[in-house]
This record gives sequence, C-alpha cells and structure tokens, in this order.
Amino acid sequence: MNTTLPFNDYGSLMRQRLGGRVQKIAIDAALSCPNRDGKIAYGGCTFCLNEAFSPSYCHTQHSITEQINSGINFHLSRGRSAQHYIAYFQSGTNTYASINHLKSLYDEAISHPKISGLIIGTRPDCISSEILDILADIATHKYVAIEYGIESVVDKTLHHVNRGHTFADAILATRLTRERNIDVGAHFILGLPEESLEQMVEQTQVINSLGLNFIKFHQLQIYHTTPMAEEWTMHPERFALNNISANEYSELMVEIVRRLNPNTAIERFASQAPRHLLLHSPLKGIRIDALRQMITSRLMELHATQGDKLTSK
Ligand code: SF4
Repeated sequence: MNTTLPFNDYGSLMRQRLGGRVQKIAIDAALSCPNRDGKIAYGGCTFCLNEAFSPSYCHTQHSITEQINSGINFHLSRGRSAQHYIAYFQSGTNTYASINHLKSLYDEAISHPKISGLIIGTRPDCISSEILDILADIATHKYVAIEYGIESVVDKTLHHVNRGHTFADAILATRLTRERNIDVGAHFILGLPEESLEQMVEQTQVINSLGLNFIKFHQLQIYHTTPMAEEWTMHPERFALNNISANEYSELMVEIVRRLNPNTAIERFASQAPRHLLLHSPLKGIRIDALRQMITSRLMELHATQGDKLTSK
C-alpha cells in the first residue's frame, strides 16, 4: 500500500507489478456479448450502453496494433507519458469467441513492442480452462489480469438487471483465475435497483471473499435508450443513489473502503460517462479526481484506513 494514502491505490499495485508508471490503452476487439446476441439473452444488461465504454480512439475497423498506436498517441498528446502500456480489452465480452480468434487477438496485442501486459474485461460466466491456460501462458512473461464485471453480490439484483449470471459464477471464475496466478479484478455498480445504502456497505464482506487484486466501483449511471432509463423514469424510488450528494457518496465510499480487504487495490471510486449519453447520474458535474480527493481527505480526517473495520459488522 502507498503509505501516504489511507487506501491501497491501483497505481501502487501497477508500479509494484511493472516497476514504473502504467497507462492502459483501451481496445475494442469487436467481440460480441452473449447477453446481447441470444446465447444467454437478447437486449443485454438493462443498464448497458456499449458506447459509454469506448474511448474516441477505439475503432473496430482498425486492427489491434493500429488501436494501440492511436491509444498511445492519444495519451501522449494529453501529456500522459508512461513507462509501461497495458492493452486493455474493454468493450464487449473479451473471452467470447473461438479460442483461435482470442489467441490471435491477445498475441497481436502482446507482440506490440510497447505493450507490457494485458487486461481482459469479461463476464464471470464466460471463462474456460482453455482461455485461462492461454492467459496463464502469457502471464509467464508479461503482466496479465482479468477484470470481471460482477456488479452485485445479490442474485436477485443480478436477475433484475438481466445480467444472465449469478454471484456463484463470480466466485468460481475468480477462484480459477487466482489459481493460475493471474491477477483478478472486478467491477461493481453501486445503486442498482432495490439495493439500499446499507446493503452496498455490507456486501463488502462478501466481496472480500473473492480475493481480488483490484476493484472498481461505479455509481449507477442511467443512459438514454436503455431499459433501465425506462425503469428509472417509472420507478425512481427503486434507486437509492438518485439524489445523493458528493459528500454523501464520499461517506458511503469511506464506509466501504473501511471494510475492504487492504490487499485489494482500488482503481476507481466512481466513473464519468460522456454527458450526452446520460439521462441521469448521481454526481453529474463532479470531477472524479475531486471525488477521490474528498474520500481521501475524509478517511484522513477520521484517521481511518482501508480495512480498519474489516472484522466488524
Ligand atoms: S454490461 Fe457487459 S455483459 Fe452486460 S450487455 Fe453490456 S457488454 Fe454485455
């Protein structure tokens, strides 16, 4: 843990793994999603809008190599230099294709001379021993992590938002990944329908059981044209974060951080989607770095640190 911060931050984890500043380069490999193409369901998760994931430099008509070059130039032109670049397969379900196709995608990314590793974003029910073996093989000489979209530990919620998988799938996928010495991360959404603030805090104990190396929290954002936009309009009372202020969100995150295992690095406390895509977002207009600073300051004010309430209920 970075001892100047009251939590284990992701930047420290990456510096520890790779020995320098790391920049992720998002890739859109044009892979589908089983929750959209009918294998599991049509329509996808009720909150999902794929455009919200992809940075402007990701174009599916470009090769992986071209996307990496554009991504590096994009970050350099904004003054973000790095010692290491990681190819981040972000959009869609990046383990959902034939083994040969996936291998060729991962191989192309890892062969790029400026790429030091891979992060593969996927669903917990979309992983197999064969895919894990390919990634474990790459992990013998390059950095590899798998980032699972888990979103909630509550099966009722997962069903409500049409995720198409259960929390048991997440337990299995994270265990199989850890067993191969691949870093494992997860993404959770705070504020899904019918989840209370207390539940959001209490689920942290369950999250700890997954043994994650890193975690991302996002506040629920409601995108235009999604089924969730309709639900939010009809039943706003189901959404506990609807009118939360930045201060209240910081207090919520402080309680979560204090219960989170200190070995799990925190990559995000919240996210910021392009404004034109949003019907509603708690924290709209609040900069994510300002929010991170608020959470940090509040933890310090309380003399609190990540995990200091780990065993308390
Ligand atoms: S959130 Fe992920 S799993 Fe759900 S529909 Fe979107 S791409 Fe598919």
